Amino acid sequence: MTVLLEADNLVRIYSSRQGILGKPTPIRAVDGVSLRVRHGETLGIVGESGSGKSTLGRMLLGVDPAQGGEVRYDGTPMPAPGTPAWRALRARMQMIYQDPLAALDRRLTIAAQIAEPLEIHGIGDKPEQAERVADLIASVGLRPDQANRYPHELSGGQRQRVVIARALATRPDLLVCDEPVSALDVSIQAQVVNLLRDLQQRNGLSMVFISHDLKVVRNLCDRVAVMYLGRIVEEGAVEDLFASPRHPYTQALISSVPQPGRPLDGRIILQGEPPNPASRPDGCAFHPRCVHATALCRGETPVLRRNEPGHSTACHLVDGAQSASKAA
Ligand code: ATP
Ligand code: SF4
Ligand code: MG
Repeated sequence: MTVLLEADNLVRIYSSRQGILGKPTPIRAVDGVSLRVRHGETLGIVGESGSGKSTLGRMLLGVDPAQGGEVRYDGTPMPAPGTPAWRALRARMQMIYQDPLAALDRRLTIAAQIAEPLEIHGIGDKPEQAERVADLIASVGLRPDQANRYPHELSGGQRQRVVIARALATRPDLLVCDEPVSALDVSIQAQVVNLLRDLQQRNGLSMVFISHDLKVVRNLCDRVAVMYLGRIVEEGAVEDLFASPRHPYTQALISSVPQPGRPLDGRIILQGEPPNPASRPDGCAFHPRCVHATALCRGETPVLRRNEPGHSTACHLVDGAQSASKAA
């Protein structure tokens, strides 16, 4: 599979004030992340709240500008955000957020919202746009008569189907989905995940799927990147990573997912404070919570290394490290 999107050493630092009179503190939300998304694959991004997943997702599209590093799309550096070249490229890269109601315009009908990107990017004349909208409505499992409804007349799951249809209107190559089902009723989450999988396979899309739900990630993704305090600490093929996680943090995350045939008493309970990006520990950022931490871990930051073909880990404990510092 060839590479569609490459990110090299991305950095995003926010400034956050602790209290009204507090001094501004830099928060390294994304701290030197490199990754690749290949044509037609789904890359999962997991990690605790605040680990930088959403910031990274936005940076991949240039919606949140990088302060360091580079994103290349089809081998070409991403144009500066806001420029005409970047706006043209945005037709090929779309984002789906958690809350469909916030993403939709309450004053526009479903058909008008789905047609909007076609108008913005000047794709087709009016009859062609109407035909494309009708196809999109059918392809996401909505009924033709729902085209003239407004967002508040639909359920949460139906609204997210509208958002998905609108994202697909310009026939993008890449979809970045940020927790696309976590605001929906549990009973309909699986339907929307299945829809995303069908559309991804039917259209040969590349997808970045950001989620807290490891079971969904396991079912949907080809590869997974695990983030901790703004960095990728492990990356690998989904089955391999779930079957034998190498990084102690990934081991703890995965141990909390119920699996047939595995007793839940094998669950690893993380000790210590949840991570705070405003005060990153020295050395390995995970060391205050890691039962394997040594003096080396407290003093030296482990680099993400390819330990085996297709699998990278940032941990001093993991053997077989080679010199490559880029994810597979
Ligand atoms: P969650 O799982 O809760 O969605 P996340 O992994 O998506 O978390 P981000 O939303 O990317 O994490 O946030 C990473 C860090 O950057 C957090 O500490 C967050 O508070 C901080 N952050 C994010 N956006 C901003 C902003 N606009 N201004 C200041 N700090 C921000
Ligand atoms: Fe634990 Fe050390 Fe590995 Fe960090 S580098 S995860 S502290 S063993
Ligand atoms: Mg987020």
